Amino acid sequence: MPRIEIDLNPVTHITADAIGQPGKRVFYIQGQKDDQVVTLIVEKVQIQTLALGLEDFLSELSQRFPDLPEASGEYDEVLMHIMPPVDPLFRVGELALGYDSDNDTAILIAREITNQDEEDEQAEDEAGDPGLGEESDANVVRFWCTRAQLRAMCRWGLEVASQGRPICPYCGQPMDPEGHFCPKRNGHKH
Ligand SMILES: [Zn+2]
Repeated sequence: MPRIEIDLNPVTHITADAIGQPGKRVFYIQGQKDDQVVTLIVEKVQIQTLALGLEDFLSELSQRFPDLPEASGEYDEVLMHIMPPVDPLFRVGELALGYDSDNDTAILIAREITNQDEEDEQAEDEAGDPGLGEESDANVVRFWCTRAQLRAMCRWGLEVASQGRPICPYCGQPMDPEGHFCPKRNGHKH
């Protein structure tokens, strides 16, 4: 299978969103450069981890480059919903961040999940240069973004991730819309 390598440079829009019923939602990253749209499947936890990692990444950048203006994380909710058709290219195994300081551009690098991933856990490539170090034949998409676009995507993604199933006040487990078998209430009178 030929390896896919796509650079959306720069993206005109990028978002993270979810589709589906609570408890069965599928999460996506969708980037767009003019009329080229790339949609990838991610896990909810990958969005949450990315959002945390991005904040560290941005504060590191502001230490290295003190003159950089603060990246706004503001977004217009209407624009953050995923656009049909949702035709994902692949399922993401790894998300990494890079930075092009000449152009003040942040790069979100999404690498496809592969069967190798479970085996070579020891492969700890430092994500120094986003263009290099891609030794496996996994498909790769690089989204070239402003810092503000990435921060907006992560904030919205966190918001969406938190809109899952309501939490049961008795057992702390998420409750499905069809009903909830509560281990704490079974046999107990609340
Ligand atoms: Zn419960």
